[in-house]
Amino acid sequence: MVRETPYFSYAVGELPRGCQLCVRGEKLVLFTTGACPRDCFYCPLSEKRKGDVVYANERPVKTVDEAIEEAKIQEAKGAGVTGGDPLARLDRTAEYIRALKEAFGEGFHVHLYTTGALATKKALERLYDAGLDEIRFHPDLFNPNSRLFEVEIRNIRNAFDFDWDVGGEIPSIPGQFERMKWYAEFLDKLGAKFLNVNELEFSETNLRALIDRGYKPISNESAAITGSLELGLKLLEWGGENTSLSYHLCTAKLKDAVQLRNRLRRMAKNVARPYMEVTEEGTLRFGIAEYDDLDELYTLLVEGAEVPEEWLYVNRERGRVEMPEGVAVELADAIEGDVRFFIVEEYPTFDRLEVERVPLP
Ligand code: SF4
Repeated sequence: MVRETPYFSYAVGELPRGCQLCVRGEKLVLFTTGACPRDCFYCPLSEKRKGDVVYANERPVKTVDEAIEEAKIQEAKGAGVTGGDPLARLDRTAEYIRALKEAFGEGFHVHLYTTGALATKKALERLYDAGLDEIRFHPDLFNPNSRLFEVEIRNIRNAFDFDWDVGGEIPSIPGQFERMKWYAEFLDKLGAKFLNVNELEFSETNLRALIDRGYKPISNESAAITGSLELGLKLLEWGGENTSLSYHLCTAKLKDAVQLRNRLRRMAKNVARPYMEVTEEGTLRFGIAEYDDLDELYTLLVEGAEVPEEWLYVNRERGRVEMPEGVAVELADAIEGDVRFFIVEEYPTFDRLEVERVPLP
């Protein structure tokens, strides 16, 4: 009954609609706040995201319009609203959902993750009225001393008063099979549609807590935790036989190799300048020249080396002149002195993360 998907993940039944769009890179990741009523030991949020900040993908945003612009660059067909707990800033979260729906139409699919701690009927009504299509609950299942768990579990019931898809979303934590089973049964009895299970991964901020509890990465190259994937599969096998929920086991590989790459490719074609090559991986590849004085460098390239101006772009923010890769290769051979040439590859994201830099010649 458990099947492997074309995206390196595993499923029982149909993938939740939010996941179907996400794997194709069609979901804007909308982070409406880092605030959260919980303090999970496995929380992957970076220090930067733990504050009350808003991001659309990698882009810090201050207004709804900036989030809409990011969704356009991505050609997004929906959004996944996350945090923190987006319900910790309910007004803001509802405002962003409503604005996205207004900008892109009813068919723009929005799903949201929440702890459930703040999911009163009133709060859910606000989200429903804003246009939310799918809600996923992540209660404090793995914390035996949790104060919030009872409240969260009670609140999940509120979600069934609305006409949207209700599901669960939890990490697969080795040693916690009984708790995961319990939650699957709980959701199934309420009539939920799905349970999404994430392979547990190390992040910069949860590393210490996970190591202290004895968890280990599967290899030096991977952030995935030993035993998490196997446990997720065990839950899917058990759930397929004992419940009528759909399941999706979302792997670390899916996030890196499929979801991210697809999103980068969608964005790359909209942000690439004419001198940039879009690679198979969705990165931007081009040549650059660096020198202490950018104006002097530009004059040298245009007047000294006779490079047509339309092939050059002075990027003052990054302190360099950008150009097609082939031009950089030729110039690196021809120009002697202190000018440094490189071929670089960058993500087409707002932060333009550099993933490769090869010095020339
Ligand atoms: S509920 Fe999510 S955001 Fe909140 S502490 Fe836990 S893992 Fe972090």
